[in-house]
Amino acid sequence: MTFKEFGLDESLLEGIEASGYENATPIQEQVIPLILEGKDIIASAQTGTGKTAAFLLPIINKLIASRIDDQVNALVIVPTRELAIQIAQNLEGLSYFTPISSIAVYGGGDGSNFTTEKQALSRGADVVICTPGRMIAHLNMGYVRLKGLQYLVLDEADRMLDMGFYDDIMKIISFLPHKRQNLLFSATMPVKIRELAKKILHDPAEINIAISKPPAKIVQQAFVVYETQKIPLIKWLLKSVDHFKSILIFCSKKHNVKQLTGDLRRARFNAKEIHSDLDQSAREEVLLEFRSRRLQILVATDILSRGIDIDNIDLVINYDVPNDGEDYVHRIGRTARAETDGMAYTFISEKEQNKFNTIEQLIGAPVPKVPVPEQFGPAPEYNPRKGRRSGGGGGGGHRRFHPQHQHQRKNNKQNNTGGKGPRNPGQQG
Ligand code: AMP
Repeated sequence: MTFKEFGLDESLLEGIEASGYENATPIQEQVIPLILEGKDIIASAQTGTGKTAAFLLPIINKLIASRIDDQVNALVIVPTRELAIQIAQNLEGLSYFTPISSIAVYGGGDGSNFTTEKQALSRGADVVICTPGRMIAHLNMGYVRLKGLQYLVLDEADRMLDMGFYDDIMKIISFLPHKRQNLLFSATMPVKIRELAKKILHDPAEINIAISKPPAKIVQQAFVVYETQKIPLIKWLLKSVDHFKSILIFCSKKHNVKQLTGDLRRARFNAKEIHSDLDQSAREEVLLEFRSRRLQILVATDILSRGIDIDNIDLVINYDVPNDGEDYVHRIGRTARAETDGMAYTFISEKEQNKFNTIEQLIGAPVPKVPVPEQFGPAPEYNPRKGRRSGGGGGGGHRRFHPQHQHQRKNNKQNNTGGKGPRNPGQQG
């Protein structure tokens, strides 16, 4: 769905375009029309879903028509100054071509910040993004112009309660006019959030956006290894699938991308690297080679994991564990585009076990672990977080690694490997 379809003001559409947004994210699709209608909202959504723009865009759009000049028109309460700054920046970009003004009000900094905030709050600012303690300090002085307030947003409400801000939030609300639209966003929905919602919201619409899950058709497996086993294992793995035309390998760090690509090239693999040290034309050239299948193996940092659409990647290998669940989903989502199935392997070193376990919890399923072939020596147990059974909490049972099975499942459910059938990896290593 495009942003035009929401019927947003032209000046706002310009800001959206300049921010590089093309289509609405799922939460934006659900939330924006409801906010435009005037509904109160309770939404469970995590960072990374586009939730900020989901509430900023309709608020800005409505304020273009209804802002009261010398008042605070909208108040966004957030747990941390970092989030306040981030939202203010996001808002600045989106509202750039509109007449909407805004300010972030947060603790720390020097006295000059306080004076600037005081001036803005006593003259009126269309959207104020604040942390609770600092806002109360201003409210207690009596100059904040809140009579015209139309919108209240509580962002990351669960985190605010965890940080002990309940009383502060209620105190801030006691200064606000009763008639207003209320929007509550929270990553989780424990009972205390529901109770807070009951106190603040009027007949809210409830929206649930779960974290994106990897498409079910991607065959995911993981090798639990020592860091030193990664290089020999990836060479072995690549040899066992050397009939694959397009293989994408992700590393979290540029340094690892360069080192691994060097190692693979010395072992005569048809591999090249892509990362932010390459200039735009070099990147485009590598991508072109990869897309046209002249280049078999592309080793990349996460710059490739989001958005870039390359069809028919046979295999994604996470040479290291990505930083969060979203990155994992984006990385492995490069395979299994459109109608094709895909495969993804992740190498988990001892240090990365906890991180991977967190990802498994986020995506809601353990990724099957396959044993490291004996020729590479003993491998570590999968035992993330103390006290868990090996393989538990993320085990998913051990399976034998056998690309042939995976490939047949991947390529064609009617057992037609189309002449691309893999060889037995055991004969290759
Ligand atoms: P958030 O979940 O609000 O923290 O947003 C996560 C990131 O997605 C931010 O960098 C936003 O600027 C970006 N973003 C939000 N909405 C869109 C969209 N419709 N298209 C592309 N990027 C977006």
